[in-house]
Amino acid sequence: MTGSDLIRQARSASIGTLPKSPRKNTAVIACIDARIEPNRILGGDQGDFHVIRNGGGLVTDDALRSLMVSQYYGTSRVVVMMHTDCAAMAYPAVAEKARLEDETGQLIDFDLHPFGDLETELRRGVARLQDTPFLPYRDDIKGVIYEVETGRVRTVVE
Ligand SMILES: [Zn+2]
Repeated sequence: MTGSDLIRQARSASIGTLPKSPRKNTAVIACIDARIEPNRILGGDQGDFHVIRNGGGLVTDDALRSLMVSQYYGTSRVVVMMHTDCAAMAYPAVAEKARLEDETGQLIDFDLHPFGDLETELRRGVARLQDTPFLPYRDDIKGVIYEVETGRVRTVVE
């Protein structure tokens, strides 16, 4: 199946009645993992959350940029959601960086964000958000781990 096949099969429905600002005033930072559906996990629906995704659900520069946009448009709460059995955590970033630079002859000039422990990385990410002066709303930032084996959401940072 090609990208064009996927687009031909696309279903669409009008979302014009949904408010542009999320109904639950919340932004979720989550992993790209196809199994992870933040809306379903947090009991929400389409239009309820801003969802910012990257490999790992990490608080990267770009996640922070998106969160700044999100708060400008009405969110005031943040949930950083990482998960067990995360492929991004197993991704050999250091070795891949060296291999790709060697193979292409070009330097990767951006951070591949290797991380080796979920809770440590989650606490680091939440602390970064709490410490940044660029977010107007920093009082309600939660860090959670979604356990793919049980479906349980465990709060790590309250
Ligand atoms: Zn993941």
